[in-house]
Amino acid sequence: MNILLHICCGVCAAGAAEQLMCDGHKITGFFYGPNIHPVDEYEKRLRAAKKVADQLSFDLIEGLYDRERWFGSVKGAENEAEGGARCEICFRMRLEKTYEYFREGIFDLFTTTLSVGPMKDAEKVNSIGRELGGEKFISANFKKKDGFKRAIELAKEWDLYKQNYCGCIYSLEESLKKK
Ligand code: SF4
Repeated sequence: MNILLHICCGVCAAGAAEQLMCDGHKITGFFYGPNIHPVDEYEKRLRAAKKVADQLSFDLIEGLYDRERWFGSVKGAENEAEGGARCEICFRMRLEKTYEYFREGIFDLFTTTLSVGPMKDAEKVNSIGRELGGEKFISANFKKKDGFKRAIELAKEWDLYKQNYCGCIYSLEESLKKK
């Protein structure tokens, strides 16, 4: 199958892309991260995603870094805890854009790397994906069967940038408070 894979960062891309390719799929990566803050963090994650695309030889498309629209979307939910309403909006925004791109292309199916991270609720991600794309969306939980462990192994092997917070300014502030 010809799959459009939404990519959030290099580490998650490594785990999910390798699994899909091992299952015999052809993939195209779609890096879309309007949530990522600040700009230099965005660039680090994009560079890591490009490294993965080079290692596994797939095409990578960069979506628009429309951070103003992201801030507008989460207005009112800024203080929600990680995993709550703000994250649901954030997942939806990224999946909507991926689905938009999918519909313009020549792909059979689409999915996302968002289920790789141990903190991510795969069922929440998948239910939004199915709501948008129905049977065209692959519901996956890439962290299962040691998927996250494998992503970390590949990150080490390929010397990928590894972030220590989810991505947005609010998750960055939370991670700084814990230091
Ligand atoms: S914590 Fe992560 S998923 Fe939640 S809003 Fe921030 S970037 Fe998005």
